[in-house]
Amino acid sequence: MRNIKKTASFFIICFSLFSIFINSAFADSSIETQHFRVLRFEGKVDESKLREAGQKLESAYADVTTLLGITSYKSGKIEARVWGGKLVRPHMSAYTVVNFHIDYVDIPIIRHELAHILLHKCLPNVPRWFDEGVAQYAERSLIMALDRLPSYPKDFALRKLDNAFTKADIHKGEVSSEEERAYLYSYGAVSYLIEKYGKEKLGTVLQGRGDFNGRFEKAYGKNIENFEKELKNIY
Ligand SMILES: [Zn+2]
Repeated sequence: MRNIKKTASFFIICFSLFSIFINSAFADSSIETQHFRVLRFEGKVDESKLREAGQKLESAYADVTTLLGITSYKSGKIEARVWGGKLVRPHMSAYTVVNFHIDYVDIPIIRHELAHILLHKCLPNVPRWFDEGVAQYAERSLIMALDRLPSYPKDFALRKLDNAFTKADIHKGEVSSEEERAYLYSYGAVSYLIEKYGKEKLGTVLQGRGDFNGRFEKAYGKNIENFEKELKNIY
């Protein structure tokens, strides 16, 4: 009898400890908003903080979809991985996921990363200059003054910028002057498109059909080569 009691107590204690563990490890580890699944990924993050982060993400989402002219765009939820704890990670995005630390939520950078995610949903093969240019515009909500651009190389071509960005990926965060210039030219090119032809054209490109070059030509009435010539005249 005594042994049965002991065994029962042992199981009750084990079950309680297990419940506490399960509660702390998984309870409230994710919340959902209209467009996001906000997931506690590592470290301690209270549910109230996840909800706060969800609100910030929704407001950034509204800004970016308005800019991109894709307010009616329907798709699955974007995953937001929220980190807690001491280790501070940089804001990052992959094609469907945005990562950030709960204590360092940088809204302009979130807008930048969301712009990448939404662009890739609409245009899987978007060239890097357009991708980074639009993301930087979404980040700053400002048109870049083109006279602030450094002098461009004689053989400047938008498609060559993609190589500079590729090098940036290899260097893992260390930005060389060539890469920095690639970001600036991309930002400059997209700012010029927005200033000269209006924001609505971004929506025309993103909601169009076919590949990027075809969509671009249809929206702006010129192909990429002619757009480059136009850029050279103002750089
Ligand atoms: Zn970017």
